[in-house]
Amino acid sequence: MQPYYYAMKIPFSSLFVLFLLPLFSACGGNEALENEANSKKVKISQQVRDAHSYANTNEIRTKHLHLELEVDFSTKTIYGVARHEMTNLGTDTAIFDIRGLEIQKVTIGSKGNEINTDYVIGQEDEILGAPLSVKIKQNTENVNIYYKTTDHSGALDWLDPQLTEGKKHPYLYTQGQAILTRTWIPCQDTPANRITYSADVQVPTDLMAVMSAKNPTQRNKQGKYHFEMHQPIPAYLIALAVGNLSYRSLGKNCGVYTEPELINAVAWEFVDLNKMIQTAEDLYGKYEWEQYDVIILPYSFPFGGMENPRLTFANPTLIAGDRSLISVIAHELAHSWSGNLVTNATWDDFWLNEGFTVYFENRIMEALYGKEVADILALIEFQELEQEVKDIQAGDHPNDTYLKLALDGRDPDEGMTSIAYVKGAFFLKTLEETVGRAKFDAFMKAYFKAYKFQTLTTEMFEAYLQEHLLIPEGINFNTKDWLYGKGIPDNCVRLHSPRFEHVEALAVQLAEGKNIFKGKNLKRSDYVTQEWQAFIRKLPRDIDIAQLKLVDEHLNFKACGNAEIMTEWYVLGIQAGYDELRPEMAKLLKKVGRRKFLLPIYRELAKSEKNMSFAHQVYREARKNYHSISVKTMDDLLKYHPN
Ligand SMILES: [Zn+2]
Repeated sequence: MQPYYYAMKIPFSSLFVLFLLPLFSACGGNEALENEANSKKVKISQQVRDAHSYANTNEIRTKHLHLELEVDFSTKTIYGVARHEMTNLGTDTAIFDIRGLEIQKVTIGSKGNEINTDYVIGQEDEILGAPLSVKIKQNTENVNIYYKTTDHSGALDWLDPQLTEGKKHPYLYTQGQAILTRTWIPCQDTPANRITYSADVQVPTDLMAVMSAKNPTQRNKQGKYHFEMHQPIPAYLIALAVGNLSYRSLGKNCGVYTEPELINAVAWEFVDLNKMIQTAEDLYGKYEWEQYDVIILPYSFPFGGMENPRLTFANPTLIAGDRSLISVIAHELAHSWSGNLVTNATWDDFWLNEGFTVYFENRIMEALYGKEVADILALIEFQELEQEVKDIQAGDHPNDTYLKLALDGRDPDEGMTSIAYVKGAFFLKTLEETVGRAKFDAFMKAYFKAYKFQTLTTEMFEAYLQEHLLIPEGINFNTKDWLYGKGIPDNCVRLHSPRFEHVEALAVQLAEGKNIFKGKNLKRSDYVTQEWQAFIRKLPRDIDIAQLKLVDEHLNFKACGNAEIMTEWYVLGIQAGYDELRPEMAKLLKKVGRRKFLLPIYRELAKSEKNMSFAHQVYREARKNYHSISVKTMDDLLKYHPN
């Protein structure tokens, strides 16, 4: 069928030679054209080499992508055309990233004036997928790729109705970060290139489609939706969700999408959304994306939240019923500056997205709920960082505690540790403490402005920091230790919280065998989620099971509905041999697909043979309820091989 579909046997490097004829030689003496090409060349050549993309963005790059998509739930397939409008410096080959896609044909020319062209699919790499090399002309600016998705399109999570809240309609959502956009759209899948996009999407008439773009708030009768994203974004931020959705406005430019069954609970939980946006703008400047909405997806979503621009994708585990997990929304909102507006150029620079965002999230929480709450959040994260530093240093990649990573040849998801998030944030906190808040805030504001709608590397940030903060202030700061050194540097700020210490003291009493409930009316609502997490972490791993049962009698941690607390509790329960938790634990593992909760529980279970057989028994049933990102992690962890 496909004229140039070589069955992935020829090494990519040799294919490359076939096509790479001399570049920039055919400008025919037209001076204006040459100048234009030269200025484009300067702009493009500034782009950084990304080890996780095959795209030749230094020669040709997408400016605008138009998608024509048909979402077919009966075959769990998206049929698509990806129309790339490109800046071409005169190359005769355009290379795109693909993985798990079936390419049907490729044409060049604008819609209606298209001609078929040859293409070659290179050797498949397990992590990166394959390069799709398209033969073009030196003046080609439009490349159209006709394709369909397959079972191996890892970005896509197709859910049968029983996995949704309403249990009547199927659901689909995508997750692009880090390098999964190439599994549902053939594209130059590197954060180093920013594109605008538009889309025409056909879905079943009883469902609504939304994207990381300007969105509808109501279903239309034809199931046809048009989307526009005018601000240039990296490809990993293209996102789509299709389901039985309803919308509720929560302010002049914000609101929530979810299934109708959940809309009241979601609107109640996120009532502070409008205030949050205002607070963020007061801190670091204008919100550049016009609208900010949140969609609460089904439970299988592998993350707490994903910062798709204009429309954060979020996990229903955030709906705790007490607004205690709202900091995740502060985090995703903060990404509208760090990550979406100013973006890491490669996945080795991931801390530029996440460290800034955790810092910014904490500042929003402080402004809205006070320093005590913000410090408790930061302290619980710092505990996780200290543990993870130990784990990483004892593991196969001890240098993963550097902020600047070296993920060449590895899945960029391996960089999603608390190093990028929390060490990154504490680097900025330490800088803030060193120069003072006023100067640091002015620096942050200037940084977001200087790099808005651009991408940068750690080295570029280091130079900017030096030039715009440290040199002018005459400060000698150990920046290199933080960026390119291991662990947590000695000058890291340390936080203290009296409330935190109080709840930890309670844990010590419980561990000593005391009845901490006697004569007191201690309730779960006396402390916030993160304080209870600190309480659980403080308990010794060999604690008497009778003491754990006492806690469950009074506080019902085992079935409290708050997945943060339940996860900590189950991990302790496994370690202490509190096997009565198993039925509730199995329930959580079968319902929730968020990796943050699955990983610690399965990891703990995997440590002993008797628990491992329980883990396998649960996982066998639960696996189909997870997104591919979680499946991959758990398959590796549990050494699970589906037939
Ligand atoms: Zn984040």
